[in-house]
Amino acid sequence: MGMAKDLSTHVGIIGAGPAGLLLSHLLHLHGIQSILIEAQTREHCETRVRAGVLEQGTVDLLNEAGAGERMRREGLIHHGIELRFNRRGHRLDLHQLTNGRAITVYAQHEVVKDLVALRFDAGGRIVFQAGQVQFHDIASSSPRITFQHGGEAYEISCDFIAGCDGFHGISRNSIPGGAVRFYEKAYPFAWLGILAEVPPASNELIYSNHERGFALSSMRTPTISRLYLQCDPHEDLAVWSDSRIWEELHRRFETVDSFRLNQGPILQKGITSMRSFVADPMQYSRLFLAGDAAHIVPPTGAKGLNLAAADVYVLARAFDSWYRSGNSALLDRYSETCLRRVWRVQHFSWWMTSMFHRFPEGDEFDHRRQLAELGNIASSRAAATYLAENYTGLPFDLPEELAQTSWPTHSL
Ligand SMILES: Cc1cc2nc3c(=O)[nH]c(=O)nc-3n(C[C@H](O)[C@H](O)[C@H](O)COP(=O)(O)OP(=O)(O)OC[C@H]3O[C@@H](n4cnc5c(N)ncnc54)[C@H](O)[C@@H]3O)c2cc1C
Repeated sequence: MGMAKDLSTHVGIIGAGPAGLLLSHLLHLHGIQSILIEAQTREHCETRVRAGVLEQGTVDLLNEAGAGERMRREGLIHHGIELRFNRRGHRLDLHQLTNGRAITVYAQHEVVKDLVALRFDAGGRIVFQAGQVQFHDIASSSPRITFQHGGEAYEISCDFIAGCDGFHGISRNSIPGGAVRFYEKAYPFAWLGILAEVPPASNELIYSNHERGFALSSMRTPTISRLYLQCDPHEDLAVWSDSRIWEELHRRFETVDSFRLNQGPILQKGITSMRSFVADPMQYSRLFLAGDAAHIVPPTGAKGLNLAAADVYVLARAFDSWYRSGNSALLDRYSETCLRRVWRVQHFSWWMTSMFHRFPEGDEFDHRRQLAELGNIASSRAAATYLAENYTGLPFDLPEELAQTSWPTHSL
């Protein structure tokens, strides 16, 4: 192998998940160059089944960025969700409770597909299948990234690095020990998720608290259901035959009025562990962390992808301010701005998780307490509004001085 090929750009971005792709596109709209380095193939990134609930703010941002065309056509707008407990359903009218906000069901890998296509159409630079990605001189004003691709060595000189490489990426671990603090909570359960070729039983998501454990009925399209059930974190997928999964799902969604799930062929199944994690600060010198690289939430609040979008919205504006006027104030406040939202979302995700799941150490008292809490939400407009505001999403980029006003509109 010869000398490394030299490249240069404004911002080197690691990871072609929602965070990295959206950041690279927002930067492009601000006239800022980037090169995006991804370890996997394009196909892998575009077919990875993960999240699917987009907050209103994420939808608005994708639309404003010009990435919403297919989402507007194919995404399913939901104005409510159902909370199910004591074998009865209670609909929360998200739309009414939040003065017109909603969620959109549109799969994460579709967002990724749209963003990759948009980047390439605009001449964006994405390197898939990059190996041995490493950072150099991140504490200096001219950090470098080296990597291998197609048998060649490359080196990128840049002004900043955006670590958008997910929870298992290298960015967070490139920060010297002691410069960042980690907060972590593991949950004593996991989710067994399936994708099934069958129309969902309900047009809206159903969150079910059942004495056998939590279950969620969701969808990806009008003909593809996405269902989850709480299981042991060390569960062996091999002991879950398709018929056992359906039997358990039927039990956890049963109601006094004989609700029936639609059953169909299972296309895919997997187990997702549950944890809460926060890195603080989300920055070290010229390296900025965004999305899962900086924080993880349990999926109960449907927030992982939305937090990633909120981070890069702030980061893109901060880079814009730096390149436009040399002003580093927004970059300096990046971590603080994001972490305020991150912790509120951590609380919401933990709260939803604790309200619906069966804890191994929990007893009948705990279950009754959960039912009372759900009963409060079903009967108190104030409690329901709290859930609805958080579920449809807090406003993006909430500066301290605006914290009391609701839903400021944002613009790029
Ligand atoms: C299995 C699974 C299921 C999930 N289900 C849900 C759900 O149902 N609801 C929900 O709200 N959230 C869910 N999430 C969370 C949500 O998908 C994430 O929060 C979201 O993907 C975060 O986006 P991101 O861009 O920060 O990270 P990612 O999407 O993880 O993207 C990171 C990218 O970096 C790449 N990368 C990693 N290391 C390197 C490296 N060294 N060099 C170059 N590239 C690298 C990865 O290949 C990946 O493409 C799920 C997550 C997982 C893992």
